[in-house]
Amino acid sequence: MQWGLIGASRIAASYMINAIRADPAASITSVLSSDAERGADYARTHAIPNSYTDLSTMLSEAEIDTVYISTTNEKHRDQALASIAAGKHVLCEKPLAMSLSDAADMVEAAKAKGVTFATNHHLRNAGSHLAIRELIATGRIGDVLSARVFHAVHLPEHLQGWRINDASAGGGVIPDITVHDADTIRFHLDEDPVSVVAKAGVSGLGEGVEDSVMSVWSMPSGAMVQSHESFTHGFAGTGIEFHGAKGSIFARNVMTQEPVGSIRLETARGSEELSYSTHNLYERSLGLFNKAVQGAGRPSADGIDGIKSLAVALAVRDAAHSGREVQVNYEGY
Ligand code: NDP
Repeated sequence: MQWGLIGASRIAASYMINAIRADPAASITSVLSSDAERGADYARTHAIPNSYTDLSTMLSEAEIDTVYISTTNEKHRDQALASIAAGKHVLCEKPLAMSLSDAADMVEAAKAKGVTFATNHHLRNAGSHLAIRELIATGRIGDVLSARVFHAVHLPEHLQGWRINDASAGGGVIPDITVHDADTIRFHLDEDPVSVVAKAGVSGLGEGVEDSVMSVWSMPSGAMVQSHESFTHGFAGTGIEFHGAKGSIFARNVMTQEPVGSIRLETARGSEELSYSTHNLYERSLGLFNKAVQGAGRPSADGIDGIKSLAVALAVRDAAHSGREVQVNYEGY
């Protein structure tokens, strides 16, 4: 598998380049940057043979069968459509796009072209989340009554660019983190939120975009979900809880890119600490993506998962802005 990186990004540098290279059959041939000098420098730093500033040149010249898109969010759509038209498989960062119809265009184009398309929602690949999902699916806590997600963190200074001040690039904590929480809840409960209420605000970092949001989601089963995302909470820690008729799951420090955190199950029989696999989240995601490209199985989060997590995030933003309860619009997906 020969990869082209669309975007000389930090997430690729921090996680994805190493995760791609963990597969001995994969190599990264090219990187695209809007800035020739930064692209060349990035290519040198990461031992990538070619750097490009023009996407169509990269797609036509370079020996690439797959692209990883990790530019700012407003660029994902056009870059994905161009890559799909050139017959490339696409792993795209979340949120897939700025609007649902753009995300749907991407997914439909990939389907029509017969290429694999996936969304890089890493959390559902964590050993911790796989263990939690198993607890719920095997009935260890009975019917789920409610869930709570704590994902209020402090955005590191080096990431405080477009995320906190550029709505046109897809900034704001809702497109950045609420999408991940929506995907994680969907993954655990196997159902899609029906409606949401929300409050969003600025608590120290956001300039023209929200940096904090709290929301409550109604699920088709009747379960309620409470979700908190922020860029300004240095000491809150992350976590997720599921409360069922027969027990509760308390997971701490698991809403993260690293294979860390704790899981405790409480039932009438007492308290149990769970162990889980500590594999690399992104390597697992890429392994499933590679298999899907070869026709075996599906990516851990496919394009429709990306559409649905975006739909929930957009509903949360709409609810926060309007002050009303908003039905989540999945555009028929
Ligand atoms: P970055 O800000 O690092 O990169 C986005 C773009 O900004 C790059 O494509 C690059 O443009 C430009 N850029 C990067 N570094 C610099 C710099 N030093 N100076 C000037 N411009 C720079 O964003 P992230 O890597 O944090 O996020 C990229 C995408 O990945 C987003 O869609 C985000 O939501 C997603 N993401 C997903 C994560 C996950 O775990 N799934 C985690 C983090 C982010 P160019 O390519 O034109 O050079």
